[in-house]
Amino acid sequence: MFDKILIANRGEIAIRIIRACRELGIGTVAVYSTADKSALHAQIADEAICIGGPRSSDSYLNTKALIAACEITGAKAIHPGFGFLSEDSSFVKLCDKCGIKWIGPNAAAMEAMGNKANAKGAMIEAGVPVVTGSDGVVESLEDAKKISAEIGYPVLVKASAGGGGRGIRRADSEEELEEALSAAKQEAIQFFGNGDVYIEKFIVNPRHVEIQIIADEHGNAVHLGERDCSCQRRNQKVLEESPSPIMTPELRGKMGQAALRAAKVYGYYNAGTVEFLVDKDKNFYFMEMNARIQVEHPVTEMVTGVDLIKEQIRIAMGLPLSFRQEDIELTGHVIECRINAEDPRQNFRPCPGKIQSIHMPGGFGVRIDTAVYQGYQIPPYYDSMIAKLIVKGRNREEAITKMKVALSEMLIEGIQTNIDFQLNLLRDKEFESGDFDIGFLNRKDLT
Ligand code: ADP
Ligand code: ADP
Ligand code: MG
Repeated sequence: MFDKILIANRGEIAIRIIRACRELGIGTVAVYSTADKSALHAQIADEAICIGGPRSSDSYLNTKALIAACEITGAKAIHPGFGFLSEDSSFVKLCDKCGIKWIGPNAAAMEAMGNKANAKGAMIEAGVPVVTGSDGVVESLEDAKKISAEIGYPVLVKASAGGGGRGIRRADSEEELEEALSAAKQEAIQFFGNGDVYIEKFIVNPRHVEIQIIADEHGNAVHLGERDCSCQRRNQKVLEESPSPIMTPELRGKMGQAALRAAKVYGYYNAGTVEFLVDKDKNFYFMEMNARIQVEHPVTEMVTGVDLIKEQIRIAMGLPLSFRQEDIELTGHVIECRINAEDPRQNFRPCPGKIQSIHMPGGFGVRIDTAVYQGYQIPPYYDSMIAKLIVKGRNREEAITKMKVALSEMLIEGIQTNIDFQLNLLRDKEFESGDFDIGFLNRKDLT
């Protein structure tokens, strides 16, 4: 049991975690960079500690300062949120060594999942369907050519240590392979310090459907249904919904069981997400497992009624899951729109600046997770996502209508945002039909 948690993050997810701690009667320690002195999380936490300069590497990634902040404040656990150190297994090991409880999976499971080429091999053994491809890391151009000829073009060359859509290159023919291989390798070295790459078949026009799982430290595991994240711009999620428009109870059962098998391989506990690609014939393929809470977790919270953050904290305290699989019931339809400080008309360039005035929508079935307020100066150093608008309706049609009403009411003055872009997406006929794939947003201009 712990009575104080340090939140190693900022923005809306830090606020989200502080709220969960309050409900559980747990004290909160916020950490902030010098650029975040007036950020909401630093204001509303019970205690706040400055951990370094504006750049993430000096503050939110500053592991020594974080451990010191725990020691100074007596915080016995760290919640990492998403991004920053949330999937850094060496930091998890450091926390273990210092007697600080990590609110997430253990370091070994995280490490194993982080190596995507090896994780695929383990999934095959566990009977989880994966995209056809190389058996682990590809060592040479000759190897790459041989494998690609076997599985057939187009293929993707992917960084084994990859994340955030980086280190991925497509080759449509053998002529393009050399270039794709070296470009993927180069980017992998640049971003992950590890040039290992693997090859898999390029699935044409799939959907991105992910399963939320949660497991305790006593071997109980439950899946909480899916989120459809096929609305992506250049591999970045824009809007998420649940249920997926293509889902059937039978497919959900199969994907849910596959996700639980994937988690079991590494003795995974706490919250996690198993990402799948689903093709036109509804075949699904394991893509990767995210060993952390995700941006879009509220979608699952709203369809299941489960508070994922509170459950994460309870699990880290050693408590058993507070529900069983048969207790999980999905009701209604939920949509989340990511609201970013960016200018869609200027190639979605981030637009930090001062929020002159703000009005957030509300009402029945409307949820806002944000950390911005009137007069707040958005610093230029961090992610451009400033709010998440989540709505729930009885069905998809009602949820779409409710989201349109909420978006039209939302007002953020002083900076550029993607609110109008989201409205255009909601009004799009293809989106409305539910029949689209991960490439559809890249094929049209909604600005
Ligand atoms: P989710 O699946 O939770 O939506 P995202 O891909 O949106 O995940 O990533 C969540 C946050 O983490 C974003 O701010 C993103 O920029 C960041 N992120 C994800 N992967 C990486 C990575 N490998 N390196 C750095 N930042 C990352
Ligand atoms: P990351 O770790 O960077 O998130 P993923 O393996 O999850 O990498 O892939 C990122 C995105 O690239 C996916 O959401 C999907 O849109 C696309 N993608 C990945 N693998 C394939 C594939 N085999 N075929 C088609 N698209 C893919
Ligand atoms: Mg991914």
